[in-house]
Amino acid sequence: MTEKLTLGWEEWVSLPKLGLPAIKAKIDTGARTSALHAFAVEPFGSNDRPRVRFGLHPIPNRPDVEIYCSARVIDRREITSSNGETELRYIIETPLRVGPREWPVEISLTNRESMQYRMLIGRHALMKDDVVEPRHSFVQEELSYDVYKPQAAKVPVQRSLRIAVLTREPDNYSTQRLIEAATARDHVVELIDTRRCYININAFAPEVYYDSVPLPRFDAIIPRIGASLTSYGMAVVRQFETLGTYCVNTSASIGNSRDKLLAHQLLAKHGIGMPVTAFASSPKDSDNLIEMVGQTPLIIKLLESTQGRGVVLAETKKAAQSVIGAFRNLNANFLVQEFIKEAEGVDIRCLVVGGKVVASMKREAQTGDFRSNLHRGGVARAVRISKEERETAIRAAKILGLEVAGVDLLRSQTGPKVLEVNSSPGLSGIESVSRKDIAGLIVQHIERRAHPIVRRPRRA
Ligand code: ADP
Ligand code: MG
Repeated sequence: MTEKLTLGWEEWVSLPKLGLPAIKAKIDTGARTSALHAFAVEPFGSNDRPRVRFGLHPIPNRPDVEIYCSARVIDRREITSSNGETELRYIIETPLRVGPREWPVEISLTNRESMQYRMLIGRHALMKDDVVEPRHSFVQEELSYDVYKPQAAKVPVQRSLRIAVLTREPDNYSTQRLIEAATARDHVVELIDTRRCYININAFAPEVYYDSVPLPRFDAIIPRIGASLTSYGMAVVRQFETLGTYCVNTSASIGNSRDKLLAHQLLAKHGIGMPVTAFASSPKDSDNLIEMVGQTPLIIKLLESTQGRGVVLAETKKAAQSVIGAFRNLNANFLVQEFIKEAEGVDIRCLVVGGKVVASMKREAQTGDFRSNLHRGGVARAVRISKEERETAIRAAKILGLEVAGVDLLRSQTGPKVLEVNSSPGLSGIESVSRKDIAGLIVQHIERRAHPIVRRPRRA
């Protein structure tokens, strides 16, 4: 670890915790503190744990490759540069790797885009026995800028991330757990009330405003968009996507799952098992719709239903006809569905994160009800799911494009039937039943996916 280094006047280095695997640095023993060239320097975080986020073009003369880094601030200092100018700079501390050695160094951030070297290593960063050979360059292992190619190494980030949760419910369990899990892993979470966002749709400078100020750049967005705000929430998420921010679920995938008809069509197209379902906007006779699905009892569901509120079990054809008639008079959108009797009021929630089922539970309806929703008095219990159920859940999330999803299944005689797929699954029930840190798993998924933003020029 503390082996001595011999350095030339220029060396390839890396700053692993900043997500910078290769930087050409100049070794300048005339300078005390090391410096990294940074632009768009934005402080964030709390007073007792201040952070800074900044942009960097790691490759000289390649302004198209742009990376955003975050680091903990340890100080702000007046630094005088070689040209005699004094500037108040943020000082960060982060591990520096040169050849075989990695050690923490202090680095000041300064915006000098014109400099030939993105980093300058000052004498404070060197250890006592290190030797600088001013006549040699690249004495240590040489690296390559190829690591900044978009397809390069998909290693999880180790830097402190700036994450925003889009939600209207700052106090709810899921939001609080996401904050807790991210903070425990040294990230910073900000809550953004989707309703208070407004958007500047501009090809050159797209921005999301919040209470009349543009929002900073986030590394990742966790959308938790309630059913009442789907289309506006999706527009906000889409805007973050335009900015290059990693969104845990994309707006398109949220749209796929929210629109029950679309979700049913996509899942059916890919051969996912579902209860036989029919829908119609205004067929002349309800009988046809009923016959398409089979015999009674059958389920009639309002498309906007959540928490089991718009789901009706019609025991007889007469009952089905009158419910359909009533829904139609209200101009409500609904679907008619085969009743999976053998499910016996139990449904299975599979929580999918990054293509894996990380937890599952079953929900049992209150006696006398067929709806297992916890809001309807259902009870959550642990369950072991079969391989087929696991695969169905994973495929359903994938087909809709969701990286985090709650997939609800019914157990039928002919295998698992997908009922619905939720893009902002609640964490409370599933964490307490499974005793797993699901919020932590979501944060780890973000670390795997939130690569430094590398911006490429738009083609004219
Ligand atoms: P919501 O979006 O309101 O939760 P769901 O489609 O999930 O609507 O239905 C609510 C509950 O009703 C389900 O969790 C399940 O227990 C029961 N249910 C829904 N559809 C069926 C069906 N086709 N067969 C049997 N039970 C069903
Ligand atoms: Mg449901």
